[in-house]
Amino acid sequence: MKNLVLLGAPGSGKGTQSAKLVAEKGYTHISTGNLLRAEIAKESELGIKVKEVMESGQLVSDDLVVELLKANLDLDNSAYIFDGYPRNIEQAKTLNSILEGYPSLAVYFELDTDKLVERLTNRRVTKDGKHIYNLVTNPPKVSGVCDVSGEPLVQRDDDKEEVVRSRMEVFENTINPVLDLYESKGKLVRLQADQSMDKVFSDLVSKIN
Ligand code: AMP
Repeated sequence: MKNLVLLGAPGSGKGTQSAKLVAEKGYTHISTGNLLRAEIAKESELGIKVKEVMESGQLVSDDLVVELLKANLDLDNSAYIFDGYPRNIEQAKTLNSILEGYPSLAVYFELDTDKLVERLTNRRVTKDGKHIYNLVTNPPKVSGVCDVSGEPLVQRDDDKEEVVRSRMEVFENTINPVLDLYESKGKLVRLQADQSMDKVFSDLVSKIN
């Protein structure tokens, strides 16, 4: 099994599909957003540094993110899904140096902006970000409670509409060179992310096999 990169705007379904790949295909999921939020929850030095930037929807500095990423990787023993990293061309190059080559595949989740905003403002998650719901399309059985862990569900601060718009803008301004790089190496596949969760998953599995 090889390392995969999932690319796509916030709300395009990378986290949801990652959870399914972990459960059914044995990948290890690494989300830089989840790692950063865990630092904020711990009130670590790093967490305190990044809190404001994250709440405004801007990107945290590349150096801080890569240190955190490296500290949480065990490349000898796992095949990873990289979710939320790389976000810009510098990070894509850094990832190549960490992996000592290109990831085996980068999957780009395509969806238009209005749908993304609707998805994100209806998104509710557990505090660690591992369980993801949508109030309209995938609600929990009991309102406000995770079906799997029983934890309360919360709305991420950066899923509020005003922040969502700036996150989209940041994404659109930084991702194209990353797509071009992977495309030029024949590593990019595109996925139509505006379909049911199960259909996206079956398309994803057929592309990575
Ligand atoms: P996500 O959970 O992937 O939507 O990320 C939430 C927020 O964490 C982003 O809006 C950024 O502030 C920060 N973040 C996550 N991943 C990265 C990254 N690779 N580089 C810089 N900032 C990041």
